[in-house]
Order: sequence, then C-alpha cells, then structure tokens
Amino acid sequence: MSYQADVIVVGGGSAGVAAAIASARGGTKTILIEKNGYLGGTATASLVTPMMPNQSKGQNLTQGIYQEVLDGLSQKYGGAERFSDNNPGWVNPELLKTYLDEVCTTAGVQVFFNLELIDVIRTGNTIEKAIGFFNGEKIEFIAPFYSDASGTAELSHLAGVPMLSDPGRQAMTLRFLMGGVNLMRLANWLEEVDPEMKNSAVFHHPNGHWMVSTAHTLDGPGWVLRPYFEEGIAEGLITSAEAAYFQIFSVPGMPGVVSFNCPRIETDHPLDPLDPKDIQYAYMKGRQQITRLVQFCQAKLPGFEDSFLMQIASQMGIRESRRIQGKYVLTDEDILACRKFPEEAVAKSSYPIDIHQASPNADKGGLQKLKDGDYYEIPLRCLEPVGIENMLVVGRCISASFVAQSSLRIQAVCWAMGESSGKTASQRILTLKA
Ligand SMILES: Cc1cc2nc3c(=O)[nH]c(=O)nc-3n(C[C@H](O)[C@H](O)[C@H](O)COP(=O)(O)OP(=O)(O)OC[C@H]3O[C@@H](n4cnc5c(N)ncnc54)[C@H](O)[C@@H]3O)c2cc1C
Repeated sequence: MSYQADVIVVGGGSAGVAAAIASARGGTKTILIEKNGYLGGTATASLVTPMMPNQSKGQNLTQGIYQEVLDGLSQKYGGAERFSDNNPGWVNPELLKTYLDEVCTTAGVQVFFNLELIDVIRTGNTIEKAIGFFNGEKIEFIAPFYSDASGTAELSHLAGVPMLSDPGRQAMTLRFLMGGVNLMRLANWLEEVDPEMKNSAVFHHPNGHWMVSTAHTLDGPGWVLRPYFEEGIAEGLITSAEAAYFQIFSVPGMPGVVSFNCPRIETDHPLDPLDPKDIQYAYMKGRQQITRLVQFCQAKLPGFEDSFLMQIASQMGIRESRRIQGKYVLTDEDILACRKFPEEAVAKSSYPIDIHQASPNADKGGLQKLKDGDYYEIPLRCLEPVGIENMLVVGRCISASFVAQSSLRIQAVCWAMGESSGKTASQRILTLKA
C-alpha cells in the first residue's frame, strides 16, 4: 500500500499538529501519521496539562493556530480556560483529542492513526519515502517534503541525521489524574497556608470554576507545604524522593480533577529514554510511586478526603531524548542573553531554563528565569537538519543544546515552530510546482 502527498508530517503532538494544519491551509496536500490512536502527543498521551505560559510583559508570545485552537476548544467544549495571569493554556487533555481531530479534518489534513514510522528511504540529501507499520503491513508514504515532529527525532534518526544527546539528564515523569477532589476546599486551604501565594495559585474563574495549583520541593527554604510532606515521609506514606518534587493543577471541564506533574521516576542512576529496559523500569516504578502519592494526598491534604486515582498516563513523560544536529545549534548563551537573529524567527520564547533532577548525583537543575519581560528567538536553521534538504524538524527535538532545549520544549513554543515550519513547507512546495 502506498500514499502520496506534498508534505508528510510524522508525529501528531503539539508541533506536528500545528505543522500539518499550517501546511494544509497553505494549499498543500498534507498527511499526518501518528502512532497513537489520537492527536496531542505528550499533551494527551502523557497528560501534560496545563501548557506553561510563554509571555513577555503580560502578552502571550505564541498566537496563531495555538491561540485559535485554545479559543475553539474553550468555546465549543469548555476544554480550555485562561488563568488570571493571562495564560490561555489550561486544557482538558481528553477534549483536546476530539478538538484536534476536528481542526485537522477541517484544514484538510489526512490523518493516519496507529501508524508507526519504521523506516526511511533516502537518496543523497533527499528523503524519498517514509515507511510506516500498521497491523503487520508496511505502508509507503511518498512526498517531496517531510516534517519530523516525532519528539524523539525518529524520522531524522532513521534518515541518518547526526544527533546531539544527553541521555538521562532530565528526569522522566509518569503523570496521573485524581478525581473526587473538593477543589473549593483545596483552594481555601491553600489561601490559608500560603496567603502570599508563594508556591500556590488560586483563581476563582468568572465561570464559577476553581483553578488551583500548588507545588512543593524538598530543596530550598520557604516551601509552605513542607510540614505536610515531612509528616508523610515520617509516617512512611511517601519517600523523600517522592517529596522532592510535587506539583498539581486543576483541569478545565473536569470538576474535582487534579493533574499531577510528578512523580519524577526514582532511580539511583540516569535513565535513558532510548533504552527499552530503562523504560520498562520507569513505568513500573512510576506506578508504584503514584500509588503512594495517592495515599499521601488522601491522608494529608485538605480537599482530597474523598478523592481517588482516576487515570495514569498511558505514555511515559519524556522531557528530552534525541536532539538533531541542525544548521544552527541554539546555545545556552542564546537563551540567557535573550538573543534575536537577523532572519525571521520561527518561535519566540520567554520560558525559563527548566531542568528536573534525574537522579541523586545528577545536575540539581531547577528553574532559571530569563531577563524580565524579554524573550529569545529560534531561527529556522535550528529546524533544518544537517545533510537532508527536504525535511524540517519541529518540537522538542530541534537543534539546541541540552540547556536550551529545557526551555524551548514547552508546548506553546512547539506549536509556534510547528506552524512556522508548516508555512515554510507549503511555500517550498508551491515554489517547486510553479
Ligand atoms: C513530565 C512532563 C511535564 C511537562 N510539563 C510541561 C508543562 O507543564 N507545560 C508545557 O507547556 N510543557 C510541558 N512539558 C513539555 C511538553 O509537554 C513537550 O515538550 C511537548 O508537548 C512536546 O511536543 P512535541 O510536538 O515536540 O512532541 P510530542 O508531544 O512528544 O509529540 C510527538 C508525537 O509523535 C508521535 N510519534 C513518535 N514517534 C513516532 C513514529 N515512529 N511514528 C508515528 N508517530 C510517532 C508520538 O506518538 C507523539 O504523538 C512537559 C513534558 C513532560 C514530559
């Protein structure tokens, strides 16, 4: 079996969906292949919600398809809400799946689900074909232009693009949802224990919903939830590794539901997301850790008295794996100096450097903010792989240093670069056809 298009996008996460929509809207026949049975990638499969803010002076730096999708998801399904800080990216991962189907279909993108890219045919600097696998069949996808939005740079890797990798420098996290949480009680308690909102955020949305988040880490002074976590450790409910990083957010359109950006997978050595044995360990360890965190929340945190474990992410949360070697490698200095480039940017980002400690001897990490009110730019050259002329790479696997990637990986930035790359792809195709 074989399919032909002008542009083939591999991977339907934030970057791939934006790339496919922009390419199709640019008048090019676009196919999107996705190994899961739904779109959204890490946002839906790994339950990563909310999308972190990408703002400068209170204004959102990512607009375009990203903003349009969030507005549509909010208006049609109540699946997105804007926080009091003007971040529009609090989303419901289940409703996002349905809405992305609709937006892609309306744009004219042909989507293939449960279809995994397994091989590439390359001649010189050109990709000739991408080979997918579906129910035991190999299927050919042929196009003059390709987009690698696989997160793990799979199309690029199979095509022989050189990689920059730091396996295991970012912690993996298996995220989960708890239901039956009394959000008003949780919000009222947080306002009581954290009146300055140092580690928490509470917003009673005009629509009546409670939007709530809080966090705790064992590092550094002043974490207001510390006594509760110390009690949890002393009583054997959780380990100190589980108390080392804890973060929760309510979810739009899911009353009484809280999404956990934890646990970091506990390990005594760095876990390589490209090693199947490490991934097996991470899932099993993660599920054990989640079970303990659930019991801790039920026992110690107001609002969780009648709560229950609702969903464990079906896909491990991988913050970083392969990064391609592109025509330009975005550096640590570019991020810290908020560098602008002479050419038009494919994305602008103000998000901090954000490294999650992966194991006891690893980089302690943490958040390092950029210059207040400023942002850096990502040039198209970071999306252009060395050695291949008819492909752009988008999302968390672009050409960047480890530290730069820890900032640019947030979803708003992935959406922005996806949209820019889709426009570039369709322009290149139209020029070819002219
Ligand atoms: C634990 C965790 C917490 C995070 N927290 C936040 C946060 O709070 N806010 C925020 O904005 N960002 C956060 N991030 C970062 C952000 O979610 C990701 O970096 C971003 O979603 C990546 O988008 P992407 O499109 O590059 O890749 P992905 O979303 O990973 O999409 C890649 C897609 O490609 C598909 N694919 C892969 N290989 C193949 C193949 N061979 N064939 C077909 N399809 C394939 C995958 O199934 C997937 O759908 C977090 C990430 C993690 C892991």
